[in-house]
This record gives sequence, structure tokens and C-alpha cells, in this order.
Amino acid sequence: MSIKTSYKEALNNKIFEVISQASQELNIESYVIGGFVRDLLLNRDFKKDIDIVAVGSGIELALKVSQLLPKKPKVQVFKTYGTAMLRFEDTEIEFVGARKESYHFESRNPVVENGTLEDDQNRRDFTINALALSLNAANFGELSDPFNGLEDLKNKIIRTPLDPDITFSDDPLRMLRGIRFANQLGFDIEENSLNSITKNANRIKIISGERIVDELNKILSTDKPSVGFLLLFKTGLLDIILPELTALNQVEEIEGHTHKNNFYHTLEVVDNICPHTDDVWLRWSALLHDIGKAPTKRFNKKQGWTFHGHEFLGGKMAKKIFERLHMPLNHKMKFVQKMVMMSSRPIVLSQDTVTDSAVRRLVFDAGEDVENLMTLCEADITTKNPNKFKKYHNNFVIVRKKIVEVEERDQVRNFQPPISGEEIMEKFNLKPSKEIGMLKEAIKEAILEGEIPNEYEAAYQFMLKRAAKIGLKINAC
Ligand code: ATP
Ligand code: MG
Repeated sequence: MSIKTSYKEALNNKIFEVISQASQELNIESYVIGGFVRDLLLNRDFKKDIDIVAVGSGIELALKVSQLLPKKPKVQVFKTYGTAMLRFEDTEIEFVGARKESYHFESRNPVVENGTLEDDQNRRDFTINALALSLNAANFGELSDPFNGLEDLKNKIIRTPLDPDITFSDDPLRMLRGIRFANQLGFDIEENSLNSITKNANRIKIISGERIVDELNKILSTDKPSVGFLLLFKTGLLDIILPELTALNQVEEIEGHTHKNNFYHTLEVVDNICPHTDDVWLRWSALLHDIGKAPTKRFNKKQGWTFHGHEFLGGKMAKKIFERLHMPLNHKMKFVQKMVMMSSRPIVLSQDTVTDSAVRRLVFDAGEDVENLMTLCEADITTKNPNKFKKYHNNFVIVRKKIVEVEERDQVRNFQPPISGEEIMEKFNLKPSKEIGMLKEAIKEAILEGEIPNEYEAAYQFMLKRAAKIGLKINAC
């Protein structure tokens, strides 16, 4: 039995009044449904989108609403989907006609026909997303809750409205949405629904990379993404979506030497970085920073377990993941790749004495991204040994301080050679040749090593000495 309560006061936004009036004029029923209602009942910050379902034409309702609004906002019509959208103040309002859906096995695009409110609620992904509030004059604000979604909201449960095998097999994206909602809202997925995700995990293969990444980004944007990733892992979805990550789930022992489980370590790093950045790409970097470790893992008696070159290989693997999941292959991908490739650099500094020249080289190589790299590396400290933990963090405090000092003095972050190739050619009367490259490289090295400051005069004197050594004479004229 559905629980019916009035939520009239909660619908105090003027737009609901207008939609109600428009529906009355068109003589159709309308309801606000889905995420807006869920978040309203949960007292969550309201999102910017509101979904309206009309028992009739959603497009006609949208056009009517626009007419009734003082500013007559533009209505965007999506004929193929039978939906329409308009903006009111800061909010996007989406209108759709109530529909009944049936699915084919190989596609998540259903065959659609007009339906009742109940048909429309049946096609929703979760009970908490099927809640609808009436906008009809006769019972404005009344809750329609055919699947006890309100109970599930109270008990913090994610549950499909129908048999989960049908809901998930019809549209496998819902499996990811369920895990994402569990993570975002701090809910549990009800046992049958969770088992069904495991059972239907393979169906995720019909979902496009873009949609998968949308959900992964939302999981990565929560305060504790490990919750979502562990659910993806336990249900088998992660093995299909990001096998590079699940390959890290191993601990081997040879001759008493073990190595840490890099899968759980990775999830800890991702959680660690969240309080320090909202940048989803830096969070992606944390997720992928160790993926090169599975294919590079070796054992030898002298060193024990090694992962030589895992950063470089990891960077290449990150690019492949971006390609496979149809993620943007632009500067975002380059950023993640760079973070992965450089992810061990500051670690060495954290374990050793921090020298100026090592810091200068780090800033030179990382450029604008050096602070992000530091944030990643601080999150990467997951040692349970309190002494080591303290030592590594303290060293990073020193590194951060030195980054500022070094940058003030030498400006190597966006390094421009103080003496250009043209000037060297001119001074020594040279044609383009390898000596020019050698001199430029020697000047850069001297700056990075701290032998000379990054200034013209010092570089010039240094160049003269170097040139003399290789027998170059300065041009007299
Ligand atoms: P959020 O906006 O926070 O992502 P939401 O629940 O509003 O959450 P939307 O993607 O905006 O999610 O969708 C609005 C509503 O449409 C949902 O609440 C749900 O009722 C329905 N819905 C969306 N996607 C699906 C889907 N794949 N299967 C079934 N119903 C869906
Ligand atoms: Mg929404």
C-alpha cells in the first residue's frame, strides 16, 4: 500500500503553481517526479533540475507553461524523445509524457508508448526515484508512492521497483546509478538488488563509455569514493570497466617477502585526496597512479618485489583507458598521464634529505602542475607506521616550502632559457649545430643544479667558460 502524505508547503516554488494551472487548462494531470522529490524529502540541497511527468503530452504542457510565465522562456523540444525543456530562474525543467517502456535484449533504448502515471513509475530505476508529487488542483502536493519509496528513504535503502533482474537487464546503466546513489546518499543496496547486479554485471558491456564515465565521475566526486568502487568491485562491474585496477588486487609472498595490496592502497589514496581537491581529474590520477604495478611486478632475491618503470607504463595505460572509455583525449588526459608518470618523484624526496636541486628539478619537470603532484603524493602516504607517516609528511612540508623559495629565486616553473639558441649562434658565429644544443643544455643543468641563478648575466659568463672548454671563440664583431 502506498503512503500518502501532503507536501504542499514544500512545493512553494512559483513554477509548480504555473505548471498546475497549465495542466488544468490543458485538462491533463501532471506530477513532479524523480530526483527532485527524493532530494526534497531528504532535505538535500536542491539540484538544478526538476522532472515533470504529464499524463498526456509533455511538449504541449511545456509550451503552455512558457506562455503562462511572465518572461515566456524558450522551450527546447526534443521531438524524438517526446520531451521538452525550459529554464526558469536557475532551474532546468524537463517535461515528459507518462510512458510505458519495453526493451530489447541488445539495447538500452526502449520501445515507448503512452502510459499512465503508474506505467511511468514502473519504468523508474529505484523506488526512491519513483516518488511523485501531484501538481493537480484536486490533490496538489499529494505523494504517490506505489513502491514504498518513502520507507526506503527512511531506511536508507536502494531497491528496484520491479524484479531487479528485469530493471537491470533492461537498462544496465541502472546498476552503476544504483551504486552511485548508494555512495552519494550513504544508502545500502537491498540484498536482492545487489545480487542481481552481480548476476547482470556482464550486461554493462552494452553501455557506452561516455555514460559509464559520467557515473564514475559522480562516484569520484563523492566524499568517499572507495565505497562506490568497492561495490563496483564486489559485484564484478569493476573487472569489466577497469580491469587494470582489479589486477592490482593481489598480495604475493616469495621467500617471506610480501608486497602491499595495491588495489586497496589505491582506494585509500583516492579517499585521502578528496578533502584536498574537488578536481575530478586529480582524483582520476589518484585512481590510476599505480596501474602500472601489476604488469611490472617482479621478484628478485636482492631487492625483493620491484615495480620498475611502473609509472611510465602506467601513464601509457591511462591513455588507453581514456581511449577505451571515450573520455576526453585533450589536456585533461595529458594531465592525468603526467601525474601518473611523475607519481613517484616526490616520494623519493619524502624519504631522503630534501636538496634544493632535487626540488628545482621537480618544479622544472612538473611545471604548473607541481602543487597537484604534491597533493597526489601526500595522499599516497598510506603507511601504517606512525614514525614513517610523520617523517614523510614533514619532508613534504619542507618540499612545499622549498618549491616556493626555489620558484621565487629561479623561476623554473615555466622555464625559458636565459640565452637563446640564436644568440649563441651569433656570439660564436655558428651555424645550427650540436654545440648550440650542448651549450643550452649545460646552462639549463647549471641552473637546475643551483650552480648559477636563472639570470642572463650569470648564464652568459657560464656560457663563455663552457664555450672556451670546447674550443669555441667569441665572435669579435
Ligand atoms: P541526479 O540528478 O542527482 O543524478 P536523479 O535521480 O535526478 O539524480 P536524473 O538522471 O536527473 O537522476 O534522472 C531523473 C529521474 O529519471 C530519476 O530520478 C529516475 O526516476 C529517472 N531515471 C533517470 N535515469 C534512469 C534510468 N536509466 N532508468 C530508469 N529511470 C531513470
Ligand atoms: Mg536529476
